[in-house]
Amino acid sequence: MILPPWLQATASGLFCAPAGCHIDPRRPVARAVVSHAHADHARPGCGRYLATPETARLLRLRLGEAIPVQELAWGRTLVLNGVRLSFHPSGHIRGAAQVRLEHAGEVWVVTGDVKTASDPTCLPYEPVRGHGLVLESTFALPIFRWPDPAAVFADLLAWWRKNAEEDRPSLLFAYALGKSQRILASLPPDAGPVFLHGALEAPTAVYREDGVRLSAARRLAATEAPENLRGALILAPPAASESPAMRRLAAAGRAFASGWMQIRGFRRRRALEAGFVLSDHADWPGLFAVIRQSGAERVFLVHGFAEELARTLRAAGLAAEASAAEHEREEDEAPP
Ligand SMILES: [Zn+2]
Ligand SMILES: [Zn+2]
Repeated sequence: MILPPWLQATASGLFCAPAGCHIDPRRPVARAVVSHAHADHARPGCGRYLATPETARLLRLRLGEAIPVQELAWGRTLVLNGVRLSFHPSGHIRGAAQVRLEHAGEVWVVTGDVKTASDPTCLPYEPVRGHGLVLESTFALPIFRWPDPAAVFADLLAWWRKNAEEDRPSLLFAYALGKSQRILASLPPDAGPVFLHGALEAPTAVYREDGVRLSAARRLAATEAPENLRGALILAPPAASESPAMRRLAAAGRAFASGWMQIRGFRRRRALEAGFVLSDHADWPGLFAVIRQSGAERVFLVHGFAEELARTLRAAGLAAEASAAEHEREEDEAPP
């Protein structure tokens, strides 16, 4: 086992026994340290939560205003029974943190979901030095190499314009928390009318209240007149792709924004007109940058293609191990 004795991979998730807390637990526990507000990291029913202030706001939205959540500001240290704990930006979505744990003369960094590419809606990924790293490996295959986000947004805009010239709506599936707001923050303000599926409204409002500059957009009403949607961009979560409201938009061009769009044939198999390679996770070179910049010599891999990356790291002389926990699909990259 590559993890130190004070950090264990349990059925409930990563457990720091001396601090008495789980990090991103998979089931209800007494004390949860939550890296970010996506559902596969932030479960309901925990006794207490610890999160960054931005994540705390999103947690209250998702899990209820009354949840007992303690906020810890970026870079501030909380000492839990001899364990020093602090949050540092992971660049994944708003509020997303890496958790730095220091105990018994050793530093371990739990990255949570991490992204090294630029994103105007959150603090940029900050390298954190440590002896060991618990790293997500969602897209840990050499085929995953993200294009420059600016080029992706230019393509997206061109696709929308082309549809608008044909008087068709553009229906873009993007995850409701994080991806959608990243898209809204990256569109030019005068690009045209933007509508939001109802599921996007609340998280988008939290981003706006936090002062993130996002394109104007309004909720897509069930009664929206079709002529209002001609030439509009409609953002909707992938899970809503077969809903009656989305089916009504039969004439719309359909596209999906995700790292999975880099896989050949994916777009065609899902009958999508366009695909935009836009991920909130690190690509293959990004994962190596995170490992290198951490200085870690021991890497414990969770999610995704962990075995593949573990083999590559061992071949490069690092100690690396893939988590034996059953893999859960990344909620924030789930296809339509
Ligand atoms: Zn996530
Ligand atoms: Zn995740």
